[in-house]
Amino acid sequence: GPGSAEEAAENLGPKRKIGVLTSGGDAPGMNACVRAVVRYGISKGCEVYAVYEGYQGLVDNGIKKMDWKSVRGYLSVGGTTIGTARCMPFKTREGRLQAAENLIKSGIDSLIVCGGDGSLTGADVFRSEWSGLTSELLENERITEEEAQSYTSLTIVGLVGSIDNDMSSTDITIGAVTSLHRICESVDSIGTTALSHSRAFVIEVMGRHCGWLALAAGIATGADFVFIPERPPAGDDWKDTLCSVAERHRRLGKRKTVVIVAEGALDRNLDPIKAKDIKNILTDRLGLDTRVTTLGHTQRGGAPAAFDRILATIQSVAAVDAVLRSTPETPSPMIGMSNNQVTSGPLMKAVELTHEVAKAIGEKNFARAMELRDPQFAEEYLAYNATTILDDNSMLVPAHRRLRVGIINVGAPAGGMNAASRTAVRYALNRGHTPFAILNGFPGLAAGSIEELTWIGVDGWTSRGGSELGTTRAVPGEAVDMGMIAYQLQKFNIQSLLVVGGFEAFSSVINLEAARSKYPSLCIPIALISATVSNNVPGTDFSLGSDTALNAIVDSCDAIVQSARSSRRRVFVVEVQGGRSGYLAVEAGLASGASTIYIPEEGVNLSRLQSDSRHLMAMYMDDAADKSEGRIILRNETVSKTYTTDVISDILKDEGHALFDSRTAVLGHIQQGVNPSPMDRIRATRLAKCSIDFFEEHTSLALEKAFEDNEEAPISLTTIPESAAVVGVSGVDVTYRSVKELINVTDMKNRKPLDAWWMSHRPLVDLLSGRGLFTPEA
Ligand code: ATP
Repeated sequence: GPGSAEEAAENLGPKRKIGVLTSGGDAPGMNACVRAVVRYGISKGCEVYAVYEGYQGLVDNGIKKMDWKSVRGYLSVGGTTIGTARCMPFKTREGRLQAAENLIKSGIDSLIVCGGDGSLTGADVFRSEWSGLTSELLENERITEEEAQSYTSLTIVGLVGSIDNDMSSTDITIGAVTSLHRICESVDSIGTTALSHSRAFVIEVMGRHCGWLALAAGIATGADFVFIPERPPAGDDWKDTLCSVAERHRRLGKRKTVVIVAEGALDRNLDPIKAKDIKNILTDRLGLDTRVTTLGHTQRGGAPAAFDRILATIQSVAAVDAVLRSTPETPSPMIGMSNNQVTSGPLMKAVELTHEVAKAIGEKNFARAMELRDPQFAEEYLAYNATTILDDNSMLVPAHRRLRVGIINVGAPAGGMNAASRTAVRYALNRGHTPFAILNGFPGLAAGSIEELTWIGVDGWTSRGGSELGTTRAVPGEAVDMGMIAYQLQKFNIQSLLVVGGFEAFSSVINLEAARSKYPSLCIPIALISATVSNNVPGTDFSLGSDTALNAIVDSCDAIVQSARSSRRRVFVVEVQGGRSGYLAVEAGLASGASTIYIPEEGVNLSRLQSDSRHLMAMYMDDAADKSEGRIILRNETVSKTYTTDVISDILKDEGHALFDSRTAVLGHIQQGVNPSPMDRIRATRLAKCSIDFFEEHTSLALEKAFEDNEEAPISLTTIPESAAVVGVSGVDVTYRSVKELINVTDMKNRKPLDAWWMSHRPLVDLLSGRGLFTPEA
């Protein structure tokens, strides 16, 4: 019969007893932390204990041993199921003495704490006092000599759970992205009523010392103005600045005005800027019908976004590894993120840097405050202003450098496409360029469907799904005549081309670049922003639309798991998109707790199916007393011609007939989502701005020369391969990689990059579903 997880674990690695607790304000993803610490800990041979109600549980001895099944269903639940509290006694030595006694009596030697800077400070204080606390406990005969000797040090590892994204030394904290989802949903819905009544809304979001949520929400919703604590508005008087911006936007025909204000927003003199002050100004000076909405605790709530589930899971795995590596000498680590990689650095240094932000603000050193945030923050603040606020001509490039910019969508629609168009248009206009919509992809271009775009014409596009420009898969040089493309580009005098799309877009840009030697009108800078749910375009870590798709899949999987659980003992085989790339299956598998996944990178065969059905039988056998577990398996749409979704489901049904039943769900186009996720909108905005900068850079030489020679701008503006590039993200940086160079790192036949950074997440899917622990052999 199947061995229990705990039995199997007996034979593995060093035995540590780990306590896990969540503390401070709750954050979505904390449950995913507890789940991963428990399951990964057990798989590494540790015993894991949940400390309930944060530090209060340490003081009151609310400590419970967890097993594999204790954390079932945790991934999809917001908040923290093991509870959190603000605990005054833990701030006293007497409280910590009691906590130390309780830990020792439970045999716990390591603590993983998920919380904000206060919680992590508390953890570090506790650790540094440890030997003093144990001596005192021994003196007072509250512990034995033996116990004192067995517990000479306490290991602490910090995970940052905070919706504010206010911790230094990490790019993003657990819960912040979900909170941003809630904010954007609210701002989007307020937008529709604001538009109907032509009203102004002032929306207050959380962030006492940190403007990340406000700024990110401003970018993602295209709000007119944002107030944050780190950077008071430009100009002597913020009221004048705000009014001139709101008025300029209204004059262009905007029917709504949206202002987002962080609860801790300040002016230059450190006086708070409150929502009601902003409301009064907009009402009194501009006569706008203005309402205030304070989002409050809705921002904490709800099911975690896919991003937070994955972030929490991979960081918690790193936290357990840090426990296993730790020695009494190593300073307590904090697990963070930098450049899309999990990091581990000194906890106290991160806490100190975090406190410095508030200090810098207090000293009116706003430049320092911005600098102390993650490296992108200052850049994004500038980009927000440059792309969202209609500028009063201060950003114009000289007349001879101004360009006619074409924007085109290629391939299937993907979340963020419209946000990219909108930002490209608005930023281009601020710089003095003229943006054009090329409608319906390359066939549209060949037919000359080209229209000038205006500032107000793209209003509201940021939050819209699908493709406003219209998109098709046709590739120039293949389904569309290259000569016609070149002819139309020349006819409309298009001097830069922004292509937003998936792998067909990549093929298109390759062909356009290759045809430059034949057609001078193709000798213009061409920027490709990858937009496809499959995330299979080389030259970027993420494509637009992939985050939206992950969230759509994870939401669907939550519903499917719920149904499977209610139907008792049912396995769903869920088919997801991705082309020949397993990205969606791996990441959605991790985020929804799939039992396993079938991806093209590995393929699927009979012996794999056999071992998987055995694994499932073992799991259901182990569940004998509790018949309510629903399970899902994700299958990429192209993994096998033979083992289709139906075939796999039938095989599992037959093999497992006595123990479980099987059904299928094919998600199809649902995966494109309705509204683009905040992350896709923000990435789109950033990359579109960088694309316009890229156009300016690659046309400057030719245009300056023509200007000096007193000639008209030439048709051919650039011929170097670098000027036909994928504008992508690598970690926190924006990168520009020529398509010509990228061909070398691309599997053109299978339509994907040769390297897949996310494959490192693959083993965790099976591991966290109990594979290796619940097998008949174990
Ligand atoms: P949030 O992001 O919600 O503010 P936080 O972790 O910063 O989260 P705090 O209320 O500051 O929240 O701290 C949570 C708990 O951590 C406190 O109630 C207390 O029990 C403990 N704690 C905080 N600071 C200390 C400290 N200096 N010494 C000991 N314990 C502390």
